[in-house]
Amino acid sequence: MTELTNLLDLDPAQLIAYCGELGEKPFRAKQLQRWIHQFGASDFDSMTDLAKSLRDKLKLHARISAPAVISDHTSSDGTRKWLLDVGQGNAVETVFIPEENRGTLCISTQAGCAVNCRFCSTGKQGFNRNLTVGEIIGQLWMAEFELRRTKGIEPGPKGERQITNVVMMGMGEPLLNFEPTVTALKLMLDDNAYGLSRRRVTVSTSGVVPMMDKLSQECPVALAVSVHASNDALRDGLVPLNKKYPLAELMAACRRYLEFAPRDFVTFEYCMLDGVNDTDAHAQELINLVMHGPEPVPCKFNLIPFNPFPESGLKRSNNGRIKAFAQILMDAGIVTTIRKTRGDDIDAACGQLAGEVQDRTRVQERMQKMAEYQQKFGKNFGRIVEVPR
Ligand code: SAH
Ligand code: SF4
Repeated sequence: MTELTNLLDLDPAQLIAYCGELGEKPFRAKQLQRWIHQFGASDFDSMTDLAKSLRDKLKLHARISAPAVISDHTSSDGTRKWLLDVGQGNAVETVFIPEENRGTLCISTQAGCAVNCRFCSTGKQGFNRNLTVGEIIGQLWMAEFELRRTKGIEPGPKGERQITNVVMMGMGEPLLNFEPTVTALKLMLDDNAYGLSRRRVTVSTSGVVPMMDKLSQECPVALAVSVHASNDALRDGLVPLNKKYPLAELMAACRRYLEFAPRDFVTFEYCMLDGVNDTDAHAQELINLVMHGPEPVPCKFNLIPFNPFPESGLKRSNNGRIKAFAQILMDAGIVTTIRKTRGDDIDAACGQLAGEVQDRTRVQERMQKMAEYQQKFGKNFGRIVEVPR
């Protein structure tokens, strides 16, 4: 038997081509796409406005399936985290963060990551593999309709949308898995799929300069850049990719990106590491870099208190230091937010848990590790919320 085509892997044009192969007109692809991405359907029999003959053909040749859920935790404040099985002992995480007027989904693009940033446990795992389109968009598909099911909200365009924002800030470097990431982005933006605003979909990158240019041409969305350091010597040690694309090149790439971006600023992420990159002098150097350098960049800063993990050898800057650092940036006129790690009953912090569980062990062992991890760091470990200061 031939392998079934996972329809979650197909972008709008590919779905039209696929329907063409089945002898169907393009408008059928549009209908099918709405069933999949607006109604969350996985069962062809439920697609009542498709001819029975087409449904039968689809049943024979296609499937609609997202990665299987290994675990699903909801915190008392509504943050929900899924651990998803992407095969061969690899797991990735997807986190939903509800806020007053929006719901943000943080999704992964790779199992592991080759960039190997000093402070990131995903990087410490090494690179396992790129996620497929179906595995990337499948996170949004699964989460949106699972959230609706939980709340009793009907699927389809009439039901209240749960996910209004997507950030590619889970595991992996999205721009090193470029094509599948862009295809998934296009589905997120497509009116016959999720219809999200470009301004509400954010790609976060450690600074893969040529791919930033490519993204600006193929699918410009909001951009976050993980800068983490105010000079090259420091950044070389924290984000090894800096040796290839140093800060001056990165700043120039940000400038170029903004010519095509849906927003008029770049968000710089900055992981606050005690005694490493968090002094007043570092803040001043950053201001010089982004405001007075040869390539000033309209930007906002998002300071991320470091989420520790075993053997990192690094510590989180204390709150007073983070606030003082933010103040220096703000006094220079840069909008600065601090991402606050809030006490929680689940563990949903950046670049931590998945790194711990994402290995080649079996599900049972992974779950055991997860429990140990939660015990070790307690419930004050996890939820991430952005709070303006
Ligand atoms: N690879 C991309 C996107 C995923 S990481 C990138 O690096 O931008 C998303 C964000 O989480 C990045 O800014 C990253 O630097 C940050 N991060 C990773 N590990 C972290 C940790 N242990 N504590 C705090 N932030 C971390
Ligand atoms: Fe990869 Fe981002 Fe982690 Fe760096 S911070 S290792 S780029 S996932």
